[in-house]
Amino acid sequence: MEAFDRHFEKLLSVAEDLEHREAIARATAHYEERKRRSLSRFKVEAWAEELREIRRGSLDRLLDYVKQAMDALKEQGIEVHWAKDAREANELVAELLSGEKELLKVKSLASEEIGLNEYLEERGVKVWETDVGALLMQLLGWKPSHPTGVSITVPRRRAAEAYSKLAGRRLPEDPKSLVGFVREFVRRKVTEVKVGLSGANAIAADTGLIYLLTNEANDRLVTTLAEKYIVIAGIEKVMPDRYTCELYSKVIPVYATGAPFASFTGTVGMSRSNDIERVTVSPASGPSEIHVIFLDNGRTEMLKDPVFKEALVCIKCGGCLYTCPVWRVVGGFFSGEGPYMGGFGVAWTLFTRGVKAVAPQAYTCTLCGRCREVCPMKVDAPRMVLKAREILAREGLVPEALRRMAENIEVKGTPYEARLW
Ligand code: SF4
Repeated sequence: MEAFDRHFEKLLSVAEDLEHREAIARATAHYEERKRRSLSRFKVEAWAEELREIRRGSLDRLLDYVKQAMDALKEQGIEVHWAKDAREANELVAELLSGEKELLKVKSLASEEIGLNEYLEERGVKVWETDVGALLMQLLGWKPSHPTGVSITVPRRRAAEAYSKLAGRRLPEDPKSLVGFVREFVRRKVTEVKVGLSGANAIAADTGLIYLLTNEANDRLVTTLAEKYIVIAGIEKVMPDRYTCELYSKVIPVYATGAPFASFTGTVGMSRSNDIERVTVSPASGPSEIHVIFLDNGRTEMLKDPVFKEALVCIKCGGCLYTCPVWRVVGGFFSGEGPYMGGFGVAWTLFTRGVKAVAPQAYTCTLCGRCREVCPMKVDAPRMVLKAREILAREGLVPEALRRMAENIEVKGTPYEARLW
């Protein structure tokens, strides 16, 4: 029960941080304006509907698609691995580093899920994030504010302080100078560090092509210049074919950031040349080794549950959070320790971190249902939150105030401590 008290006290203190709330309000206003313009310019809602139908229709065959993707990746000369949980995935990455003491990363929610940075740093490996926002959160020691805009609730004053420490000089508090500093830093680092890692936005089962979408181009630097490149992908990232991945690539930028497209939308595969007598030689200019770790970590259990399997349809755009009355006040603190916040995040926290971890988050949701209205995949998050609460109630994991209210209703016919009539 202490966990509830700690969580709710933290939320109240975060809610009183006006600078943080103003940053959330600014980020939300920019997002909404951009998204409104993108929706009016392109047929995004129709693409989202088509993607939704394919995602829902292919869910029961997800494991077949994963198998097909693995075969296609192997055919390209890419090594594939299966991690049943966070521990296995972390151990695999540590092993694949083969003694290298630095790792360059492209922002990855799956790596947040398994606590990869913390795991490696405890073992003496220095991890360098290469996205402007992910690097900022790493420097601040904060958890992501949002699944796709990890630092959007950090005020520029705090950003300047954090980057100045890394730079060893005072940087001005303006976004252009701060991004300019990160640009120089990342372009230097990619020439020094041999191993790179990213998540995957999508993987096409028919070809094994790995789709990555960024606006900053850091993915291109890391996935091309690294000598060894590792991908961690939750199995729900596998889609039946390139057509579906491309549909996804047109939908997610709008719901994730409001922008009509991601500046860098592309695929990664094993580099090869067949320019000399049409003999295929691999690698060409890309990494000499590519490894893809398929992460289960509760997903196959989710698939078996008629209510929670809906969470696997979610594309983790985070669009629902901009409308969430709780997120708009507390940002990423909604979920406590884990990276999956908001109503949809309840299912993800439950299956990836367990019942005790999800309890405070499940009771933070107001069940207002606004998330369902704006979700491009029409994920019924409130239904999943209610089911999570049923499980929690069976385990006795209910906040004391709610437990007393329920008891009062049963005994006195009123949620209050005394009869009012
Ligand atoms: S529930 Fe919907 S809006 Fe929220 S992250 Fe998932 S797909 Fe996006």
